[in-house]
Amino acid sequence: MIASVIVDVAAKQTDRPFDYLVPEGMREWIEVGSRVAVPFGSRLIQGFVVALSDTTEMERSRLRAVDHILDIQPPLTEELVRLGRWMSERYLCREITALTAMLPAALKAKYDRVLACASADVGKDRGDLSDRAQSILAWLTEHGPVSRDRVLEQFPRSESELKHLVREGLIVEQQLVKDRLQVKKVLTVYPPEPPEKLEEALTQLSARAVKQQEVLRYLLEHPEPIPMTELAAVLNTTSSAIKALAEKGWIAIRPAEVLRDPYKDRQFKRSKPLPLTEAQQQVFSRIREAVESGKRHAYLLHGVTGSGKTEIYLQAIARCLELGREAIVLVPEISLTPQMVERFKGRFGDLVAVMHSRLSHGERYDEWRKVQTAEAKVVVGARSAVFAPFRNIGMIIIDEEHETSYKQEESPKYHARDIAMWRVEQHGATLILGSATPSLETWRAAIEPLSGEPELIRLALTERVAGRPLPPVTLVDMREELHSGNRSMFSRRLREAIEERVRCGEQTILLLNRRGYSTFVMCRSCGHVCQCPHCDISLTYHRYTRTMRCHYCGYGEREALQCPQCESPHIRFFGTGTQRVEEELVKLYPGIRVIRMDVDTTTEKGSHEKWLRMFRERRADVLLGTQMVAKGLDFPYVTLVGVIAADSILRLPDFRAAERTFQLLTQVAGRAGRHDLPGEVIVQTYAPEHYSIVSASRHDYEMFTQRELMERRALGYPPYSRLILITLSHPDLTKVMKAGETVAQAIKRIWKRQWDEQAVYRMQQTADNELTVLGPVTSPIPRIKDRYRFQCMVKYRGDAASASAPAIVKLAVEEAERGGDPELQLAVDVDPYMMM
Ligand code: ADP
Ligand code: ZN
Ligand code: ZN
Repeated sequence: MIASVIVDVAAKQTDRPFDYLVPEGMREWIEVGSRVAVPFGSRLIQGFVVALSDTTEMERSRLRAVDHILDIQPPLTEELVRLGRWMSERYLCREITALTAMLPAALKAKYDRVLACASADVGKDRGDLSDRAQSILAWLTEHGPVSRDRVLEQFPRSESELKHLVREGLIVEQQLVKDRLQVKKVLTVYPPEPPEKLEEALTQLSARAVKQQEVLRYLLEHPEPIPMTELAAVLNTTSSAIKALAEKGWIAIRPAEVLRDPYKDRQFKRSKPLPLTEAQQQVFSRIREAVESGKRHAYLLHGVTGSGKTEIYLQAIARCLELGREAIVLVPEISLTPQMVERFKGRFGDLVAVMHSRLSHGERYDEWRKVQTAEAKVVVGARSAVFAPFRNIGMIIIDEEHETSYKQEESPKYHARDIAMWRVEQHGATLILGSATPSLETWRAAIEPLSGEPELIRLALTERVAGRPLPPVTLVDMREELHSGNRSMFSRRLREAIEERVRCGEQTILLLNRRGYSTFVMCRSCGHVCQCPHCDISLTYHRYTRTMRCHYCGYGEREALQCPQCESPHIRFFGTGTQRVEEELVKLYPGIRVIRMDVDTTTEKGSHEKWLRMFRERRADVLLGTQMVAKGLDFPYVTLVGVIAADSILRLPDFRAAERTFQLLTQVAGRAGRHDLPGEVIVQTYAPEHYSIVSASRHDYEMFTQRELMERRALGYPPYSRLILITLSHPDLTKVMKAGETVAQAIKRIWKRQWDEQAVYRMQQTADNELTVLGPVTSPIPRIKDRYRFQCMVKYRGDAASASAPAIVKLAVEEAERGGDPELQLAVDVDPYMMM
């Protein structure tokens, strides 16, 4: 038997399967998807079995054997192995990178360096060795591979002997493959089988051993295995009484695996399905039919905020579970608040596994195990939950599908929506993309599908549940405020509105988009802006530590007291941070209770939840924050939403800036007046006439998309084209420019050659094919950590171009890498989201 293995080495030359012999004893265990340790060069490394067969193109005698299997149950399914292959072609990443991305971090390999004797009888007939060297050998033979530190602990001050032994080849260095984390085990008490044997034990105990008797009686009544500490606690006894019973052989104490449950201390109120409104019912029956058909279906559920999408998800999942199938629900990381978790746990209880980045490695691993062992049937999680190793998926839901957090920004740079599309195809499952503000890519695919594009059907919910109105939105022109002498960051209108809420005990959410409005330090005399010497971006002022820091590389320096350029003392920080807004609020309304939520106040585990709970319990008047407060929250007493500066993202150098502005405003407006009290939204802006702000203020998605699609079509941007971004970096400016040129030229050349070869055939297919290369140009961030950055953007449309673009880019990148410059780094981003 031969196993083809993708090995855990991130190098171009190793990005292909390697064949290994499967020893006799492993054949029962090894499967496609198994994680194995295999010899590679002189090392032992981790790999994944991607195929099993009885043939190989290699010479059999030269094949090496799989060393061992790392898990009893393969962590990847055969489907996920195929997905890894697909991802590597789609996103131009290494297969190993794709496969590892599917697993919890705890399963990423950790390599331990250990020392071992080269063979069993080393050191025999080696009279030249010192006594100490001989005893080290003897000890190592007995104790097997151990770390160097462990050897030196046993034989202090023996570095030179050890080194000598290694140099002589008597001791070899090996690498052990280990997981980053072991499963958590606790000592557990096991009563005998059958438990009645304990009655016999009771009769044999001396009358004075009261505690031991209690233990036996308890176990007779509760014969299930129980953690020892728990048993001791229940009986208010010590573990010695329990151990004494084990020593007599009546009970057994063994370590057992326990799954850490991050939500174990929380009670979730069970919720029953709500009777659906008519609009919900119409949508639901379409989805139910799709689920029951067992065939691939994909829907865009376009529903305004508060229209009851989540209730539809819940009922659709219930149907899916009845049919014996599993469901994956993706929500943006940011809205994975207890509120969202509660709705799913409340409906499906322990069948729900939750995966998000605020869990510890151990907790995440355990939640993943629940999926793997099929103890859980529903996963609610952020982006990477799309890889849940279910075997019979009936449904994948992506809520707030327009969220950029579904795109992973490090390799593999995948989009969860693409992965979901691929997986529903494989499983004959139903995909639901839900949003109040669908991304333009999704919208275009639903209303103007291209030929050959998989079907995506639009379903709409145009009204909020129970006829609650969407809140009215008022735009305030901040330029006018300034003209009439108001220099505060609060317009008069917003100020009065907040005051009124405080007075009548209602709540306010204030959004400050920090991106684009960071607190930079500028000289008022000469306009000099303090910048990072490594990254060419403005330094951010940190008030409490009185330092200026670079957000990209972490560089920091003390606050400038005079301008480095003109020596003027009028140097100070500009822009508005959440801290400043908070200070201003407290100044304006003495005694106001403000909760500030931003990266600084939510780093601690559980802090997010804590703030939101406080706000829900109305222990604060204002919730002030960045994007974090814009999404998914549902508080009955919030009747005012204020946006401090709506146009801040409009100025980012990104073709999606208008779309992001519209989405953010719509989302945050949706937080007001979700229950009985009517809501109101006040948006402050310097660009009140911009179509994204106007249409958001009217809750008019179609007005926005019509205009935006027109702009995109005119400029040839997605969704009317597709992009591949290639970023090159190098410490040497001329070398990175040259490499960029190589890449750009190669792409143009290969495309032209392909086009000419197939011109006639392609022309018949469609004339609308185009592939252009923009660049090489300096990246928007020209330098990071002393490396110069250049980029090329490939823009293409039409079926022929789309089919070949990734492969062309791959060839071009390989051409640039062939120069063999180890300092040159190339990163490819297919369908990029981050343009900065
Ligand atoms: P969305 O996900 O579209 O923002 P939700 O599902 O959160 O909307 O629904 C908004 C509010 O309406 C929630 O408080 C929810 O409990 C309530 N709701 C949803 N469907 C119904 C229904 N059929 N009957 C009564 N209340 C409902
Ligand atoms: Zn100056
Ligand atoms: Zn920097």
